[in-house]
Order: sequence, then structure tokens, then C-alpha cells
Amino acid sequence: MFLRTAVCFLIAAATCGAQIRVLIVDGQNNHAWQQTTPVLKKMLEDSGKFTVDVATTPPKGGDMSTFHPDFSAYALVLSNYNGEAWPDDVNRAFESWVKQGGGFAVVHAADNAFRKWGSYQEMTAVGGWGGRQSGPGTPMARWRDGALVLDTKEGRCGQHGAREPFAITTRNPEHPIAKGLPTIWMHAADELYNSLCGPARELTILGTAFSDPENRGTGEQEPMLMAIRYGKGRVFHITLGHDVAAMQSVGFIVTLQRGAEWAATGRVTIPVPADFPIAIEIRLRQ
Ligand code: ZN
Repeated sequence: MFLRTAVCFLIAAATCGAQIRVLIVDGQNNHAWQQTTPVLKKMLEDSGKFTVDVATTPPKGGDMSTFHPDFSAYALVLSNYNGEAWPDDVNRAFESWVKQGGGFAVVHAADNAFRKWGSYQEMTAVGGWGGRQSGPGTPMARWRDGALVLDTKEGRCGQHGAREPFAITTRNPEHPIAKGLPTIWMHAADELYNSLCGPARELTILGTAFSDPENRGTGEQEPMLMAIRYGKGRVFHITLGHDVAAMQSVGFIVTLQRGAEWAATGRVTIPVPADFPIAIEIRLRQ
């Protein structure tokens, strides 16, 4: 034990032993982050792969200069944050940490954040709301005829219909996160984001859903699960997870665990469990 601790200290404290060190960032969000952060923390820890700390920013209008987390102590940062800008030095520290190989996971409205922070937009690939407009340089990412299509048609980015259950279709099934998932699986009632846009570079789409025009949708296959490369860093972006109920979907839990492991390490060892949803049935965990 002492030897492993000593060796770990020497090589890579953030990924030492079996435990991947995770920092969840929250503190401002137009969603109930006080409820969802403990749920995200528990689902990561329940996999047995992660230990999780939480860094909470000051509330809206607070003194953001007091927020300066040490990203370098972690293998993964998970954002449950959609709020005011962080200090410039925190942004610079975060983008260089990811670029040098840090793992980043983006959940639901965290992809609405920081429209004016270019590196953040590159990390998340696409986002919505906050005045975003699609066009050349900020295309909408869609899945058509078996491939990613970058649609530069001009329009507002980010909308969703009423929360209903919907099916996810696995794409790029050879990717470590997607490997072994059913081709089609049901997700619990949630917001189905559509028309997200952004730089969309180094983007691999892992799961899409049909955005139904009868529920204020686009008629397109819209990205739900994404993997992005940013320098040496890996980013897992999941648009699902509006609230605790949506996060109880086994598909959300397992893809978040696997996406987090991939972003942190480049590998996925977390198996697809027996209770993973199938095409016609929602599966929940309390
Ligand atoms: Zn939402």
C-alpha cells in the first residue's frame, strides 16, 4: 500500500489506483443544480471507479474572484454549471489543463454556458441559447444518411419541446463509450435538445434522437451523446439530464459513467449492465 501510494504520488496523482478523481463544478444554473449535483456524484461513485469532489461558485452577482479550483488535482471535471463568467485566469487554467490531457464532461444546460468563451465552445463543440446563431463557423450538427452533417443554415440555436420519453440511436458503435450499447434504447422523459450549434470540430456523435416536429422539433436526428477532442484532452458531452427524474434513466447513468471514464482515461471498462434499456422499454434506477 505504501509502495503504491508512493509510486502514485510520483506518476499521476489524479488517476492513481483504481479511483479516478472527479471535480463537479456547479453553483449557478437555470436548472436545479442543488438537486442534480448529489445525483451525479452518487452515480459516478456507485460505479466504483470515481471519487468526486464538488466546487461551487459564488451565487449570481457574488465575488467570482474567490473561485479558483485546482483542476490539476483531477482527471476529470464535470460541469453542472450554466452561469456567470469565471475569472479570466480560471478560464485560461481550465483550457490549458484540458488541452494538455484533462478530461471534461458536459451535462445538459452546461452546454448553454459561456457563449463568449471561444475555447469552451470548442470543447463542447455545440451549444444552445444565450443568443447563439448558426451559420458558417457555427453550424448545427446533425446526423443524416449515416454520417455527421454540419448544417450552416442560419437560425437560432437551441430549443426543445415538452418532456417526453424518447429513443436514442447509437452511432459510431466502435467508439469505446458506445461499444456494446443496444442500437436503439429508450430514455426517460427529458428535454430533447435540438438545433445546437458551435464550432463542431473534432466531434464524434455517439447517440442521436429524432426531434419530432409534433413536439416543436426539427424532423432531424439531433446529437444527444458526443465525444470531442480538444488538444490532448477528451470531452464527453451529454445533452440529456434536465432534472433528477431524467437522470434516473439507466441509459443516462451508464452513458455518463462510461463517458466520464473515457474522458478521464481514454478507455472504458464499465460494462453495459443487464438493466440497460432496450428499444421499447424505459429503465429507471432510484
Ligand atoms: Zn433543461
